[in-house]
Amino acid sequence: MKPVYYDYAATTPCDPEVVAAMLPYFYERFGNPSSMHSFGQETKGAVEEARERIASFLGAAPGEIVFTSGGTESNNMAVKGVAYARRGKGNHIITSPIEHHAVLEPCHFLEKDGFEITILPVDGDGLVDPDDVRRAITDKTILISIMHANNEIGTIQPVSEIGKIARERGVYFHTDAVQTLGHLPFTVNDLNVDLLSASAHKLYGPKGIGLLYVRKGTRLTPFMHGGEQENRRRASTHNVPGIVGFGKAVELAQGSLEKEVRDLTAYRDKLIRGFQEKMDQVKLNGHPTQRLPNNVNISIAHVEGEGMLLSLDMLGIACSTGSACSSASLAPSHVLMAIGLPHELAHGSLRFSMGRPTTAADVDRLLEVLPPIVAKLRAMSPLYQQDSNAPKAC
Ligand SMILES: *Cc1c(COP(=O)(O)O)cnc(C)c1O
Repeated sequence: MKPVYYDYAATTPCDPEVVAAMLPYFYERFGNPSSMHSFGQETKGAVEEARERIASFLGAAPGEIVFTSGGTESNNMAVKGVAYARRGKGNHIITSPIEHHAVLEPCHFLEKDGFEITILPVDGDGLVDPDDVRRAITDKTILISIMHANNEIGTIQPVSEIGKIARERGVYFHTDAVQTLGHLPFTVNDLNVDLLSASAHKLYGPKGIGLLYVRKGTRLTPFMHGGEQENRRRASTHNVPGIVGFGKAVELAQGSLEKEVRDLTAYRDKLIRGFQEKMDQVKLNGHPTQRLPNNVNISIAHVEGEGMLLSLDMLGIACSTGSACSSASLAPSHVLMAIGLPHELAHGSLRFSMGRPTTAADVDRLLEVLPPIVAKLRAMSPLYQQDSNAPKAC
């Protein structure tokens, strides 16, 4: 049977049209965009065309887009770049406990260098309360970084409201939109952001290329020093095939976004309903409606995430888990911990993330395959045996 991929939040396949658009830029059109001769001007044109397309999709100006090596670099650049540029004004940064590690780790790094980090709480659905943001701002606050949508539980934050608060107080606002660019309709002005991170490989583009949107006038200290590329904000020869591929990926997303949101939302809700009907003690993680159309994250009591993941993989279904018995730390996902999920349920979590190629048949197959796996694993679990006479919602 054809394997089914349910891990589009981790990465997506490159669209063949994206690959086709990139190919000429490996051999025929290989010039360095910084070169003055015709070889360079040709690729410079391709880079600027991609920049314009992406900028227009974001409702931004081309000069506000800085190409990077991916979401991780963009997040590092936003957090550390603002921290060092605004050090004269203050040393306080506000963020959330469910950010991607590429935001949290730069914050931890800065803490060792004299910066003060406030990590706001989130509620049981993973939502940040804008009033908490308002209350946390001090005279020393220089940056607020709250992600647009969470990659594990899919919760979409009230980013636009938070951005409004930040602007009223003269604080820069950054959002990690890696999970939403090309997946949800928005512009940078809708979100009220000064900085926004995105990555091509999460929207059917190539790996190793991303962007940071930097609103005009936003001060940022570069941390790649070298040539004068990207208006001196990010040195290094342009990744021309990557940038061209990113532009094509955005063009394709523009055309299919509306249908994708509609289809995936229907699949998502069918999966959630189906899991809850076919199995007892299943909990949905993340907000029930304010969530990514492609994200289903559930915890199944008295079963290990790894066991389910490997059983599914043997049947050709690839997903991910927030449990981490196999990871070095043995700690479950920081996101599941932050929403207050008991360890036991965090270890029984599975994330199914869908994408453009997902079909109704894939959804039916998963609904057919998972419940017997869970029943089999539970049959071996003494805890479930004790508990199973009185199934309860958890
Ligand atoms: C994947 C991801 C990143 C990292 O992006 P890379 O391009 O892989 O470095 C950052 N934030 C979120 C929310 C992500 O899902």
